[in-house]
Amino acid sequence: MRGRKRSPVTATASPHLRYPPKMPRTFHIETYGCQMNVLDSDVVGGILERAGYAPASDPLSADVVLLNTCAVRGGAETRVLNRLEAIHGESRKRRGSEALLGLMGCVAQAQGEELVARAPFLDLVVGTDRYSELPRLLEEALHRPGALVDTTPDPEMTYEGEPRVEPRGVTGFVSVARGCDMSCTFCIVPRTRGPERSRRPDDVIREVRRLAGRGVCEVTLLGQKVNAYRNGDVRFAELLRSVAQGGGVDRIRFTSPHPLWVSDDLIRTMKETPQVCPGLHLPLQSGSESVLKRMKRGYSPSRFLNSVADLRASMPEIGLTTDIIVGFPGETDADHEATLEMLREIRFDSAFMFAYSPRPGTAAAEMSDTVSAEAAQARLREVIDTQEKIGRQRNRAQIGRGSTVLIEGPSKKRPDEMFGRTPENRSVVLPGDGLEAGSVVDVRIVDAYAHTLRAEPLAHPAPTSIGDAPC
Ligand code: SF4
Repeated sequence: MRGRKRSPVTATASPHLRYPPKMPRTFHIETYGCQMNVLDSDVVGGILERAGYAPASDPLSADVVLLNTCAVRGGAETRVLNRLEAIHGESRKRRGSEALLGLMGCVAQAQGEELVARAPFLDLVVGTDRYSELPRLLEEALHRPGALVDTTPDPEMTYEGEPRVEPRGVTGFVSVARGCDMSCTFCIVPRTRGPERSRRPDDVIREVRRLAGRGVCEVTLLGQKVNAYRNGDVRFAELLRSVAQGGGVDRIRFTSPHPLWVSDDLIRTMKETPQVCPGLHLPLQSGSESVLKRMKRGYSPSRFLNSVADLRASMPEIGLTTDIIVGFPGETDADHEATLEMLREIRFDSAFMFAYSPRPGTAAAEMSDTVSAEAAQARLREVIDTQEKIGRQRNRAQIGRGSTVLIEGPSKKRPDEMFGRTPENRSVVLPGDGLEAGSVVDVRIVDAYAHTLRAEPLAHPAPTSIGDAPC
């Protein structure tokens, strides 16, 4: 942790009872949104454990409850405040005293003080660059009557050297960069996460090795536009090669790549580096040239198609998924048809599909030619139907094929079965007999559903290490 002057904080009055002084105090974090938030929750958990707090699995019994929020979709503030209010009421009944309730993440950073005005039960609002200060902020919030708000930006913060909770499985996340310098007109992230800053390659590799030493077999490298990573002369493809060489894990993924930075070097590195999985979540957002321009995405549909063609020419079996926003301001029927046409042409394996919702503080929120909610919902239905049909067809085409699955653990729906992923990032369930998390299994795909494949192992492997990794 870097030595810094105490940051400015603000306080507003609220007559709260606080949790009774005792040690160890307990904390519970609920995480919403993207993988970066999952990673941040692990960092915050590590910081609180180092400060003497113990994790609690039940929010209603914890002394401190933090909601790590996502501001990407509309209505997020209302949802998290409703959730926090429910915890507030229930935990007071159960404990006889109030837990200290806080918001962190992108909603906290974007809304700050306004949240306290809307939610008098809120004790703490902490911004995305302030997590290292949490032990001190919690103490202050505990000992003063007002809610505490600290969203001071720190454009250099990367949480380098901060602890993390121990990995909970055989997969893990490592951030390579924070923040974003793009200005996509629908996106609140540059405001909530600040300018882009990258970590040194050595620090990234050290963290991957640390996870590998604790049983992690697969890491996902994270950044808002991860493939735009640059630290000094080191660009993303070189970082990937270095992590493959020195990280000690069997599988490497990365998300989210930006279509503008799908370089020849990156494609070659994906093809030639066995640890780098041939799966990519490449956000298209819209198939219309004019909508992409208004979104300020920086690429055209034809450029996106060329990138997909290059990826598939090099890795014919690559798994491709995407994000689609329908009903962006000014989107016409013809624009919508262009998106459907792109989906039919590219044939993604799956997609996250949303109706546009304005985020206050973004350029798109000021655009006037909005699409009605009814029209946006109808378009969303059409996009979902089109993509789901394609996804099912692509999944069914896997039946009879062989693959290699990294077992992540028991299936959530049927605990007697195991769940894992193929290198292309396809979800697979298979009989659990004799398999453990971390096993790598050769399988044959025997059935396919909308979002999952069913497989049979070709032979049960011993759940021991493969390659040099400790899996
Ligand atoms: S690249 Fe665009 S969509 Fe992605 S985080 Fe940056 S501004 Fe948001």
